[in-house]
This record gives sequence, structure tokens and C-alpha cells, in this order.
Amino acid sequence: MFSGKFHNDRASYTLIKSTPAFWSILGDAWFHITQAPEADLPPRPAVWLFADLSGFIEGPEAAEPNNLTQIMEGVAIDPSLDHIEGTGLPLGTYGLALLSEHVVPILTNGLSTGMRVLAQGGDPGEMHTIAGTIWRTSNLLTVLLVKSPGNHNFTVALKSGLLRAVAASAHIPDFPPLQELLAHWADVVIPRHLLFHEVLRALGPALEDIADVVTADAFRQSAVYEKWSTFHSLAHEHLQILDSPFLDKTRALRACDNVECLTIQPKALFERCSGCSSFCYCCKACQVSDWRVGGHRNACQSCDAEAREFHVLTRDRAFFRALMNHDYQKSKITVLQDELVFRHTHPGEPYFLIYNYSIKGVVKIEPHLFGSNQSLSGFTWTDTVSRVARSKGRMRLDVLVFTADADGAGWLAIPFRRNTARVDIGLERLAIELRKNRDTWDMGYVTKVLAALALPEDLELETH
Ligand SMILES: [Zn+2]
Ligand SMILES: [Zn+2]
Repeated sequence: MFSGKFHNDRASYTLIKSTPAFWSILGDAWFHITQAPEADLPPRPAVWLFADLSGFIEGPEAAEPNNLTQIMEGVAIDPSLDHIEGTGLPLGTYGLALLSEHVVPILTNGLSTGMRVLAQGGDPGEMHTIAGTIWRTSNLLTVLLVKSPGNHNFTVALKSGLLRAVAASAHIPDFPPLQELLAHWADVVIPRHLLFHEVLRALGPALEDIADVVTADAFRQSAVYEKWSTFHSLAHEHLQILDSPFLDKTRALRACDNVECLTIQPKALFERCSGCSSFCYCCKACQVSDWRVGGHRNACQSCDAEAREFHVLTRDRAFFRALMNHDYQKSKITVLQDELVFRHTHPGEPYFLIYNYSIKGVVKIEPHLFGSNQSLSGFTWTDTVSRVARSKGRMRLDVLVFTADADGAGWLAIPFRRNTARVDIGLERLAIELRKNRDTWDMGYVTKVLAALALPEDLELETH
């Protein structure tokens, strides 16, 4: 329907594809088609329409990437290149479409429809052709989800039935490349977005939408089930944090950015720094002190620049804070034990905690000496470290490290402040006490003291 006619006329083809309005209209039309009652448009004709449509999106020169590894590791959408790196796909006819968010719902819906047809089964030749279309579409979508900055494409995909497509894959007949790709989605592509507010807001309804599919016996026996259930429990945990009272509290309250001040109060009561409109002070005296003595004079212009670069929004920061608090509370005794051992081997040396979130959402909380991590450097970091030193124990530092790619590239570190002088003093006392009898620790006693320190739920607030 689309391909033959336009592919022959390169100029209009390229022009049409580079027009955002075109994709918007096509996206809307496609959405209505796939949402139509099945009696009006059975999935089978819809999937052929989609095959035609996706051929048009790909363009006449589209070459199939060789394998999943190539897609995941080699592909980069860079408008300065004349092709999409790693695939040999020409950017002119194809990349422009890929850069448009309107393509996401078309591909996601098409995928989901295709899966439904495959699950029904039929003529092997026809099935193979449909599976091929779905495989190519999945590749396209993977590029859009993994390589586009921020989380918007992923959110759009969730709203357009991405999870339904993954769940439907449990019922399709054996087609290993497709299953490999879908397992990869459940394992890596989807979990890596689970730290972001926008994504989680779309994830709740998407999970409800497929509740009937994933509880069916056939799904439980499928190859994707194990990876799916890991993803599902992580998603569930994060959704609970999103609705937790702690998140509301962190959103409502704030600590004064003068680290020598202990004021915690509702955000509205603070005055913002007019230079960066990011730092907040409880009174004029605190602002003047932080400007002159605290060094904000030098830091004002660069604060938050790193967070902006990585598309971290204020509400994402609030969620990170709540997530870190949740994970800290969950393993507090273990973390305190690790800190105690760390203090024992590094007496008197200041340290901070790194919350290292792996691509699969699993966290490792570890103490680190300042200066021990080469990745943490630059002006913002130096400023943060000097603020911690100046706080004289009032400010403890937690750093969230989030790795965005399986190979460790594209990581992001955000410092958070904890206002827990009580725990700090208790730990130091215990460490000094234990240092006196170097070789034998009475573990029963140590555990008892740590449990007492761990008891109250600290309200831990973020700063810059
Ligand atoms: Zn203050
Ligand atoms: Zn400022």
C-alpha cells in the first residue's frame, strides 16, 4: 500500500518521512486500527497491513542487521553519520523515522498484533513471513528503546502495549531469534528503565492490562516466565515505593543547603538562590554563609548541570531518594556492619556510601573512601566533598550510581545527603571501643548495638 508507490519517488518519500506531523497522523490512525473490535478488523489483515507499513518505515535500502549482539552493542543513532552505525542502514530514509516518537506506538501495536496472529498458528510459510516481520520490527523497537536519550520512548511503548507483546511471545511457536530478543527485553531492556518516575507511572496500568495473560498456565510454562517473574517482582517493589508515604515526605520537606545548619522544613518556607534557583536556604544568614564560606559562590553556575545532562528530573531524584531509603532500611544491619569493618580498617578516614544499581535493578551498598573512585571527579564532586567535610558530621553522603548499559557505559552518579549524625556518632563510638580489643569482637554485643542504631526510621533528605 505505502511502499511501492513512495519508494519509487525518493524526494517525496524522504520529505514525507522527515515530517513529524506525518508520523503523528499515521500513529493515530494505526492506533485506532489496532484498537478496533476484532470483528471489524481481524488481527490477520491488520498484521499484513502492518508488514506493509513497517516496510515503509524501514525504507527501500533497509538491510537486516545480522544478529542481536550487533543491534545491542553496535547501533548508535547519530544524526551526523550518514548511516546507523553497526547496521549499515541509511539514516536519511530511516533514521529520521527512528528519531520520531510517533513511530513507537505503531511498532509496539504492530508487534502485539503480530504476536497474536503467530499464537493462533496457521500455514507455516505465512507464519514464517510474519515472524520475520516481527523480528525486524523488534529490532527497530529495541534501537528506539535502548538508544534514545531519556525514557520517553519507553513510556510511549508501555502505553501502547509493549508488555502485551512480550507476554504474547510466550504463546508463539518456536522461532529462536525472536525468543532470544524477547528474553533480552524482559531481562535487560525493560528493567533498566525501572528507576524512572515517568516509566513507573505508565508501568502500573500496563501490568494490570496483562494480568490475565501472565497468570495463565501456558505463560507459566513458557521460556520467558522466569525472567518475567524477576522483572515483575522488581517492578512491583518499585511501584510500591512510588506510592509510599516516604516519597511524599521527601517531596514535601527539605534541608537547608547551608551544611552547618540543621533546619528541615516544608519546601515552601525556603528562599531559593537566585543564581541557580536550585539551592535553598532557611534564612538570609545561611545563604550569605554558604555563599562566602561554603563556596557556593564558585559552585552556583555548575550545580545540577550533570543531572540535566542525564535527563534526571526533580521527581526522579525524589524517587531515587525513596528507593535508596527503602533499600537502606531493608539491609540496614548489613550496611552498618560493613561500615563498622570499614571504619576499623580505615580509622578516622571520611567515607561515603555508594548505592550501585545494576542494569537489572539490583543494588549493592558499599562504603568508599573519598578519592578512591576514579569515576567520581570534576567540579561538582569536589564541591560536594568539601561540603561534607564542612558539615562536621551533620551531612553524610550517599551516591547513587546507575549503570545504563550492560557493558557499564553511560553510568550516572548522583549525590544525596543524609542527616543522621546520631548513627554516625554511634558507629564511631563502637568502632573506637572495638579497636581496643583488636582481635576478638563479641559479635553478639556488636549486633545488639547495631540493632539499636538501626531502630528508628530516619527521615533522610536529599541535597545537592
Ligand atoms: Zn539554614
Ligand atoms: Zn546558586
